[in-house]
Amino acid sequence: MAGVSLVCVPLVAKSVEQMLSEMATAKVRGADVVEIRLDHLASFEPRRDLDLLLRNRPLPALVTYRPKWEGGEYEGDDGRRFEALFLAMEFGADYVDIELKVAQEFLDYLSGKRQDRTKLIVSSHNYQSTPSTEDLSSLVARIQAVGADIVKIATTAVDIVDVARMFEVMVHCQEQQVPMIGLVMGERGLISRILCPKFGGYLTFATLSVGKESAPGQPTLSDLLDIYNIKQIRADTKVYGIVGKPVGHSKGPILHGAAFRSVGYDAVYLPLLVDDFASFLHTYSSPDFAGFSVTMPHKEAALACSDEVDPIAKYIGAVNTLIKRPSDGKLIGYNTDYTGAISAIETTLQGSSGKVSAGSPLADKVFVVLGAGGAGKALAYGAKEKGARVVIANRTYERAKELANLVGGQPISLADLENFHPEEGMILANTTSIGMHPNIHDTPLSKQALKSYALVFDAIYNPVVTRLLREAEELGVTIVTGMEMFIRQAMGQFELFTGLPAPEKLMRDTLLSMQ
Ligand code: NAP
Repeated sequence: MAGVSLVCVPLVAKSVEQMLSEMATAKVRGADVVEIRLDHLASFEPRRDLDLLLRNRPLPALVTYRPKWEGGEYEGDDGRRFEALFLAMEFGADYVDIELKVAQEFLDYLSGKRQDRTKLIVSSHNYQSTPSTEDLSSLVARIQAVGADIVKIATTAVDIVDVARMFEVMVHCQEQQVPMIGLVMGERGLISRILCPKFGGYLTFATLSVGKESAPGQPTLSDLLDIYNIKQIRADTKVYGIVGKPVGHSKGPILHGAAFRSVGYDAVYLPLLVDDFASFLHTYSSPDFAGFSVTMPHKEAALACSDEVDPIAKYIGAVNTLIKRPSDGKLIGYNTDYTGAISAIETTLQGSSGKVSAGSPLADKVFVVLGAGGAGKALAYGAKEKGARVVIANRTYERAKELANLVGGQPISLADLENFHPEEGMILANTTSIGMHPNIHDTPLSKQALKSYALVFDAIYNPVVTRLLREAEELGVTIVTGMEMFIRQAMGQFELFTGLPAPEKLMRDTLLSMQ
């Protein structure tokens, strides 16, 4: 069973005509099954509508008539529901779903008229939490005992670690050859919907578009097929992802997913909405969860959880990449933010001078870091390592002093930075969020002051060209964007994840296509 989960599109339109049209779209877009949600129809005439919906269906159909008390829309009595579901069986529905609470009554109602060609899914939904593994297992046993062909359990993730219990039960069912649909609802449960084939799930749900979900947390069909490549996920597919809170906006899954696919690397890259980093790592400790990108607010926790850390990442105090070493399972922490930013600046300096020097083009240059947060530290340590003379300017002067002390640099106030011009050829790196969307008209330093610099870098990548960079460019100053840093840190992560050279052109093209 593992590796062949069906992808089912729930149809929640109000009219039969719309459902028929969505059914055709689901087929064209690559779904395997559609779920006809009778409870969503505004007016429902069982015999006429089921005939229309099932007679020439382009895809196998699962028929569900969910009552309000189980999270659906139907408010009437069970008699009418049972009648409609029986009719769906007579019209040849491939699957019919009945809730565990009334499954025995439904089977009594069928009294021997159960159709062999229709598989009976007996379902249980929990919209509050995910029970213990023991409770989930006994729920499976109760569902089996009632006579289900397929067990369906949907619970809710309060924390991403809840999903691991569902995976455990799914694997057990697979070993026992019990077909099971195990889904954990909500944003924190998303991985249950994507990793379904890895853990032997029978089926997963995906919507045609955002807003057409039949349960919280369903991804779109195109995300499931094109970004997560679900049809290629097998039991031994490796899992990577971006750990953060929030992570919904991350470009990582599109970028790394496309990169893995382009080199034929058997892995999936997920958004991982994590509340407690240590408990996440502890729960998903198997070698299959092979590496992570780490973003706010977990970069310090990632450092603390690393068994070994790259020395500069340790100085910076932040890890943005964590790899599980295959030989011993130890977690090794890296920081590709600083390598990404520094290499972007070095390459641009080399390109603009036309000279290829043996050492770093940053050596002995005055390198002004604006900001003393996470990115500020990364740039300051990176520049220091390359032999630059580092100057730190920050709104909170105390923090500028602290960082300057750490890297052996010079602190300066923001006011003094306006007239700071000790020599030609200086570099400015903005690592504050001033100028970031939506405050795109803000800038951290006057245009006048930019004349003192040979190169200006901005860590912000939304927008790609900030007001700071635009004004620098207008003065003829060389610029480096935060997008260049982003792409390079992602390429660094890809190489750490796979041990292969990053497919640079594909990654650049993928990022460009997202803008
Ligand atoms: P952070 O740790 O919160 O640090 C923010 C810094 O900005 C602090 O030094 C803070 O000064 C300063 N700051 C914030 N608002 C300010 C204001 N209104 N006026 C003056 N200073 C202000 O954030 P971070 O993680 O370093 O991220 C900073 C920026 O870098 C963000 O725009 C982020 O998107 C970008 N970034 C880009 C990449 C990439 O790949 N391109 C990677 C990482 C980060 P105080 O100390 O006074 O609070």
